[in-house]
Amino acid sequence: MPLAPLHQPHNILAVRALQSVNPGLPQVACFDTAFHRTQPWRSQAYGLPRKLMDQGIRRYGFHGLSYEYIGHALARLAPELARARVVVAHLGNGASLCAMHHGHSQDTTMGFSTLDGVPMGTRPGSIDPGILLYLMREKGMDAEALERLLYRESGLLGLSGISNDMRILEESGERSAAEAVDLFCLRVAKEVVALATSMGGLDLLVFTAGIGEHSAAVRAAVCRNLSWIGVRLDADANARGDQAIESRESVVPVLVIPTNEEPDDRPPHHRHPGDQLIPFASSMEKTP
Ligand code: AMP
Repeated sequence: MPLAPLHQPHNILAVRALQSVNPGLPQVACFDTAFHRTQPWRSQAYGLPRKLMDQGIRRYGFHGLSYEYIGHALARLAPELARARVVVAHLGNGASLCAMHHGHSQDTTMGFSTLDGVPMGTRPGSIDPGILLYLMREKGMDAEALERLLYRESGLLGLSGISNDMRILEESGERSAAEAVDLFCLRVAKEVVALATSMGGLDLLVFTAGIGEHSAAVRAAVCRNLSWIGVRLDADANARGDQAIESRESVVPVLVIPTNEEPDDRPPHHRHPGDQLIPFASSMEKTP
């Protein structure tokens, strides 16, 4: 619960509610962190004393249900590319990116909590931890105040002062909205390069989730920031929302693939034989 205050309480509530109605009912939890356990140690550790890692202070990563789905979708769409070095940008109200090689997670932007990485609807993404020390010491903020700041008041909402909703920001004529979107697109592009570095290259970029699937403007701006590594979009294909949106000159293909974080909707051949028998998802821990 302390690791994911935005997500865990309602997940656990559902498990307890079902337990009280039917104590014998088997319940299955699908953890958004599990997909990332294939990562090498160097991707899972922080530059902190090792004993803290032994105590669980490590980079868990999230959105694993989404990335696993995208991996399966890619294997059907383009099996060669699915085995290659892929960066998936899951850009929704919560946002993270994942480096995948042979369909397995190599690195990801979220870490110990869902706060890390790129700015999100109401979360700041990575910030200098010195800011937290400063706010505690100099501004007297306690854990509760910091939690509110970091989970609910930051990100696109905090930067724009208008909304956490990308559609509203794109339609707003306010400078603060444009600056928030610009910052978001730069930070996403920076993470694409960082994750590609973890894999020693980039063979495919995939956009997914609410913003990634629907905002042609964000996709265009992220790819403009990546033009120096040879990423080029076909403006018409991007505006239409085609699946393949790179131009002929692009050195890296760029796909838009709708995600699906409801594991029960996986294609039948990806389900395990017993799946149908188990009443599903009392606690499907998808990361917003
Ligand atoms: P998700 O958390 O994946 O449901 O994504 C939610 C985010 O997607 C919100 O910021 C929405 O504003 C954004 N979004 C959904 N549709 C669009 C759209 N057509 N254009 C821009 N952003 C969109």
